[in-house]
Amino acid sequence: MDKGDFIALINPAMALIFAAAFAVLWHAQRQRRYILRLAGGYLAFAAAFLLQYFSPIGDTASRLMSNGLFVLAAIAISTGALERYSRVPPMRPIVFVAATGFAAFSWFFFVQPDITWRIYLMNFTLGTIALLFATELRKVPDKKPIDWLLLAVMLFSGLSFFPRPIVAIWLEGPYATLDDFNSSLYWITLVFTGSLFLLLFAMTIITAIVLDVMEELRQKSETDLLSGLLNRRGFEAGLHTAFAARTPGTPAALIICDIDRFKSINDRYGHAVGDRVIRHFADCLTGATEGQHAVGRIGGEEFALLLENADAVTARLLAEGIRIAFSTTTALGLPNGMQVTASFGIAEVTTDETIDDLFRRADQALYLAKNSGRDCVRVAPCPARRAAS
Ligand code: GH3
Ligand code: MG
Ligand code: MG
Repeated sequence: MDKGDFIALINPAMALIFAAAFAVLWHAQRQRRYILRLAGGYLAFAAAFLLQYFSPIGDTASRLMSNGLFVLAAIAISTGALERYSRVPPMRPIVFVAATGFAAFSWFFFVQPDITWRIYLMNFTLGTIALLFATELRKVPDKKPIDWLLLAVMLFSGLSFFPRPIVAIWLEGPYATLDDFNSSLYWITLVFTGSLFLLLFAMTIITAIVLDVMEELRQKSETDLLSGLLNRRGFEAGLHTAFAARTPGTPAALIICDIDRFKSINDRYGHAVGDRVIRHFADCLTGATEGQHAVGRIGGEEFALLLENADAVTARLLAEGIRIAFSTTTALGLPNGMQVTASFGIAEVTTDETIDDLFRRADQALYLAKNSGRDCVRVAPCPARRAAS
């Protein structure tokens, strides 16, 4: 083994390590199928780099397979990256570029053998494919910093395929034999930039996977399993964010609602039917709010809604709508036509009150609704203004 062999082993070794890392990640996150694609792509990169330098199955077959694998590997990892965004790659232009690039490559292999042209063709083909993927990645809406980073890595790796062979060949002149190639400046720059981009891409996408998993866990920890609404923690987190971002003077209102005499439903029809009533009420809430307001299940049969840019009058209208929708429909499992009702308490946000104050006032209004015979909406009076100190 000479020192050239060691250098040639850098990329296959690195690609294999990342292929293994992606395979392990996929094993733990099987619902993210794109990670398996990334593992396959990196495995193909490892094989392509090995065949490129060591030519174990004869020069011709090795070169053809190696370059074919480079194209497949690039398509696999780029498709994997796009799949993370549930985006379909522009397959037609990609297949067209890959097929014409490979056909031209074969021409300069079999018909008019020329290493320099083969280098240009492979680079331009891979570069164009990477840029096609980058164009698709650019269309991803609401990009976060990690998405911009992935786009930048894709773009720079794609662009690097163009100047790299041109400069290397311009500096060293055309290569006549494969031995010339293996000791060329071009090969060294390919090994160096190849390892850099393999590393950059893998680190970026692994960071993206970690962020996705963290976000998924955060969402799960803030979601109520039974109703699919926010749980108390999620609702309060949303409330704090909304309060922090609120511009003074814009109205907002909190509605707290509670299913009436729910305990008797559980007692008479069983806990499972009680659960269905909770889900039915949650459906009425989401149906009425259409995703425009934060809605949470903050207790057993107690729910809350935060209405931003809405005053007590608007909140009251919405609450009345929900009250009627709920009391005029029957959850599955209950006798047909049986009426279950809910009571509502509303507090409009005032300038200098805390979230706890707001909750307390809405709770008092709900208490008033319960004491007024239930199945009704009550609005908390505005608190007396605090004396200026
Ligand atoms: P009120 O009209 O005053 O609100 O009377 P209520 O019976 O609705 O209120 P109470 O607080 O006495 O009873 C609430 C019941 O909700 C008691 C509890 O067993 C039940 N509950 C709490 N969480 C769940 C749940 O997740 N599923 C079911 N089925 N029942 C639940
Ligand atoms: Mg109740
Ligand atoms: Mg209750």
